[in-house]
Amino acid sequence: VLPEPFAADLTARRRARVSEVLEEHHGAAALIVSDLLNLRYLTGFHGSNGALVIDGASAVLFTDSRYVQQAGEQAPGVTVELGRDVLNDAVRSTADRPTLVEGEHISAGRWLDLSRDHPRLALSGHLVEDLRTIKDEAETAALTAACEVSQSALEEILAEGVVGRTERAVARRLEWLLAEAPGEGPGFESIVAAGPNSAIPHHRPTDRPIEAGDLLKIDFGASVAGYHADITRTYVAGLEPAPWQRDLHAVVLAAQAAAMERAVPGAAIADVDAAARDLITQAGHAERFGHGLGHGVGLAIHERPLMGSGSDGTLAAGMAITIEPGVYVPGLGGIRIEDTVLVEDGGCRPLVTLSRDLSTVR
Ligand code: ZN
Ligand code: ZN
Repeated sequence: VLPEPFAADLTARRRARVSEVLEEHHGAAALIVSDLLNLRYLTGFHGSNGALVIDGASAVLFTDSRYVQQAGEQAPGVTVELGRDVLNDAVRSTADRPTLVEGEHISAGRWLDLSRDHPRLALSGHLVEDLRTIKDEAETAALTAACEVSQSALEEILAEGVVGRTERAVARRLEWLLAEAPGEGPGFESIVAAGPNSAIPHHRPTDRPIEAGDLLKIDFGASVAGYHADITRTYVAGLEPAPWQRDLHAVVLAAQAAAMERAVPGAAIADVDAAARDLITQAGHAERFGHGLGHGVGLAIHERPLMGSGSDGTLAAGMAITIEPGVYVPGLGGIRIEDTVLVEDGGCRPLVTLSRDLSTVR
């Protein structure tokens, strides 16, 4: 049975929370939601065009004729209105009340026009995105299911054998397995990177065959009920790991463990990043870990909270994040170990049980 993170009672509770935040912090009467993932989060509607007006207890979703029927089915408890320029329709429906719009998702030109025509409008910041950082039980169940589906697919392809196949063939096969599994298939384009290509953090799979002795880095994940898994494992193809591969792997594994240890409710995100980064720096690889420690994950593969050294955020119970330190040695190879984890009271809990050891795959 697949999780149902958009059940009517759940989306109603999320909309009620939006109304509370509007009153408490913004003194605005209404919020107009036009980001499609925020729309899905707050209503269950999963189309490509819509604008939702949350105004006290009422919720009105404007969409165009392609989606009116679908919105009626997917968004229980929401009034669906046929619109044309849905953002404009939504703005007009709020008459002359102070109203927020989502500036993250409209163009600068559109905002100039809107704010000139309607001085009562203001920008909402990351209001809904911040609410989305704390997952409820159904969302957690969807993330867990996505991780389980992903894990099974990786285990299956490793059992088939990967040495001698190309990066591209392995990526396609992995995505086929994810597509066949319960859920919505691959949540993003898989990274399969072998040998020197593993030193490229976001390498796109090529026709290079996976050869014995290569480091093999696989970063992938399924989406289930809209929620994404994000997992990276690194292996050695065909041979026992070489000493330099073991050394590099040990540093990254220790860095990930140190960050997981620190990833508890109330922890400053910059400190969690530093827990991993300090170990990598001490091992002499400071310049070889150029990206942040991770990111929030949910309806989007990359969402709030931002998880880098410059982040001024704090972790809270219910957040779903990735912890993914990596060390990349140009021309030689790279290792990343990434887990999707849930921040819970007392610690953080990885949603995958795949071994993180540097094992040999055939
Ligand atoms: Zn990833
Ligand atoms: Zn990631």
